[in-house]
Amino acid sequence: MTTLPDLVGHVIGGRTTEGVGTRRADVFDPSTGRVARAVALAEAADVDAAVASAAAAWPKWAATSPLARARIMFRFRDLLDRQTDALARIITAEHGKVLSDARGEVVRGMEVAEFACGVPELLKGDFTEEVGRGIDSYATRQPLGICAGITPFNFPVMVPLWMIPVALATGNCFILKPSERDPSASVLLAELLAEAGLPDGVFNVVQGDKVAVEAILAHPGIHAVSFVGSTPIAEHIQRTAIAHGKRVQALGGAKNHMVVMPDADMDQTVDALMGSAYGSAGERCMAISVAVAVGGAGDALVERLAPRVRALKIGPGTDPEAEMGPLVTRTHLDRVLGYVEAGIAEGAELVVDGRAPRLQGHEGGFFIGGSLFDRVTPDMRIYREEIFGPVLAVVRAPDFAAALELVNAHEFGNGTAIFTRDGDSARAFAHGVQAGMVGINVPIPVPMAFHSFGGWKRSLFGDHAMHGREGVRFFTKLKTVTSRWPTGIRAGAELVLPTLG
Ligand code: NAD
Repeated sequence: MTTLPDLVGHVIGGRTTEGVGTRRADVFDPSTGRVARAVALAEAADVDAAVASAAAAWPKWAATSPLARARIMFRFRDLLDRQTDALARIITAEHGKVLSDARGEVVRGMEVAEFACGVPELLKGDFTEEVGRGIDSYATRQPLGICAGITPFNFPVMVPLWMIPVALATGNCFILKPSERDPSASVLLAELLAEAGLPDGVFNVVQGDKVAVEAILAHPGIHAVSFVGSTPIAEHIQRTAIAHGKRVQALGGAKNHMVVMPDADMDQTVDALMGSAYGSAGERCMAISVAVAVGGAGDALVERLAPRVRALKIGPGTDPEAEMGPLVTRTHLDRVLGYVEAGIAEGAELVVDGRAPRLQGHEGGFFIGGSLFDRVTPDMRIYREEIFGPVLAVVRAPDFAAALELVNAHEFGNGTAIFTRDGDSARAFAHGVQAGMVGINVPIPVPMAFHSFGGWKRSLFGDHAMHGREGVRFFTKLKTVTSRWPTGIRAGAELVLPTLG
């Protein structure tokens, strides 16, 4: 895929198709604000076609040895490596993030393919000899069947790759429903999987909106749903998928706090906050959006942060000088601007106002500069709700206990971090904080592919995090076999529950 087509279609059974319907959505170039292309919006019949194609491919794929599946993953991983730039350019064109960040996203996704290359080891079961006299037992994990992934706009490559390599390598077929806001990368991913040797139908892409999602949730041929997106939709996905008898993991929104202790190295802390609050224009589920300044840390922090936020270089993602690109759509920009206004109205102190960035030649783009609020309090909307833009709130807490209580009282529990030089505070924080991913002097503690990614509280609905061993468990079901051979000791009829011995 060298140039992007005017219409982004589905990939079903190895072929691209515009689908049965005529509904389309605009896909924008966020740096100009202009419509760049359209994406087909699937009808339920397109989901049916994808499931039929996956169902036809599944028996053979499930019967393929883990080693053979791993070899396809090795080739896929190699193709991702070679196509990193192509994928990054597509991400930047439709999402808006700067190219260096887009490349980083591809690499983090590729790491999951690397993890999945180890699938023969990951699927190795447990065996126990002599669980009873002449009786052996082994436990093995088998694929679920057809799994679907529904993904958000903010990582159009990395988040699908949290799911796809693990699902496929463990022997499942997969249907991806990417975000309709930046759909093109999914088509290149399908092309690379085909080039790696994946049989047609094992991986399908269905573009679309709510209609496609509801058809996936209700489809009796789909056995599991992985979702990443906002909390209200995650909750709906979990409830509906469970009601239809599916296994589900649904990752939701976030409001990640960084606790800044008075003993923290302020320069390091400010560097960390700049990257984690304003990188990718704050459109990251692991972005830090609240800095909790403990004791006397607040003044020093805000004093150092303000000039750095003002100096952020905003520009199109293709500009190598730009540190922050535009937001994804006009609607999202308006939403973020609305939050800045709400913060002012609620009495927070707007230290840096990013609402009117000056960008010659890009007046139509969805740009906003970095904004910084001080003296934010827990009752304010800008504290309670996820903004998903480059807006950092500084909250002041009298001591460590109050800071920890604040983090734990928030409805979200995705990631969190503490910056300190004190081991006691760091340990108490890591142990007591109610969040799934914790950084100690690490602002964005995104677990590597061989660990697992997932939050707590209303940031994750379901029992399994993504990738790593959690991913393998999610995409497989446990079977335990207990066997005795007729040449073994004859036990006679047993009418009571057998016990060992
Ligand atoms: P979103 O919830 O709007 O969309 C996610 C997916 O759901 C998309 O594929 C979309 O088409 C579909 N969808 C949207 N509205 C729907 C509806 N009413 N019914 C059925 N399906 C619907 O999320 P987004 O704006 O694309 O992404 C940003 C959100 O994702 C943020 O809240 C962010 O925190 C979250 N996110 C979370 C993680 C995590 O790991 N927890 C990672 C990335 C993004």
